[in-house]
Amino acid sequence: MSRIFSDPAVTGYQAPGHPEAPWRVSRSAERLKAAGHKIEPPAAAATEADLRLAHAEEHVTAVKTGGYFDADTPPHPDIYRIALTSLSGALSAADSAQKGEPAFSLMRPPGHHAGKNRIAGFCYFNNLAVACLKALQGGKCSRLAVLDIDVHHGDGTEEILLGREPFRFCSLHQSPLYPGAGLESVDNCVNIPLPPGTAEDDYLRKLEPALRSLLDFKPDILAVSAGFDTFKECPIAALKLDIKSYRKIGRMLAETNLNRFAVLEGGYAEALPEIIENFLDGFF
Ligand SMILES: [Zn+2]
Repeated sequence: MSRIFSDPAVTGYQAPGHPEAPWRVSRSAERLKAAGHKIEPPAAAATEADLRLAHAEEHVTAVKTGGYFDADTPPHPDIYRIALTSLSGALSAADSAQKGEPAFSLMRPPGHHAGKNRIAGFCYFNNLAVACLKALQGGKCSRLAVLDIDVHHGDGTEEILLGREPFRFCSLHQSPLYPGAGLESVDNCVNIPLPPGTAEDDYLRKLEPALRSLLDFKPDILAVSAGFDTFKECPIAALKLDIKSYRKIGRMLAETNLNRFAVLEGGYAEALPEIIENFLDGFF
């Protein structure tokens, strides 16, 4: 059985004109339901102690009190509560993966740019990194492979997981592009920059060995930062994947036969709901 976790509460914030908008989750949930998927509220409730697995105390406090400024990552009175709900989805998906049930967290805000002590690029807390660090505590899992397929480098995730033995991290991302990181591999982090204009064939040709190197690590879990801004119509990037590419990517990940989960990161084109449906058709 596969599981999808989402919560309408995460549509409760929006900045005017911001591409990371509530429809991304609400319309995707509607489409998935219409396609016969069951959408569940998160089974786990994230706590402040969970946040501290990946984040500095002052960072947690700053998000809680609105004590920061970043034009991309705007303050909102409810953002702390909403970000915790988003993290709850990732924690639930990780729990589900450990039981052998592939899972997807359909939540916002995304997380992969959030570092130990910084918000960035629409991200407040690093949902995936926290979920992976918490999975280690359960005792059933000692090695995790983290794959970031968002078009932007997962710089926050890399910062948090760099040099930590239980993890191997791999990011495929457009370069040059925000945040300008991930140009070279370092330690346990493999970075695969892709030129603007990269289309499906070249993308899959790079993904295949990347996935193999993650498998060589013999992970107990495959955790995926699932950004869909690699789509050809994405308004803020320039890769050229098609809607059907995501079914192929999802299937490649499923064919690893690893316990696996994915969390929503970016993806800003109108076709996002259809893209997610295609990805999950392969991934589940
Ligand atoms: Zn992105």
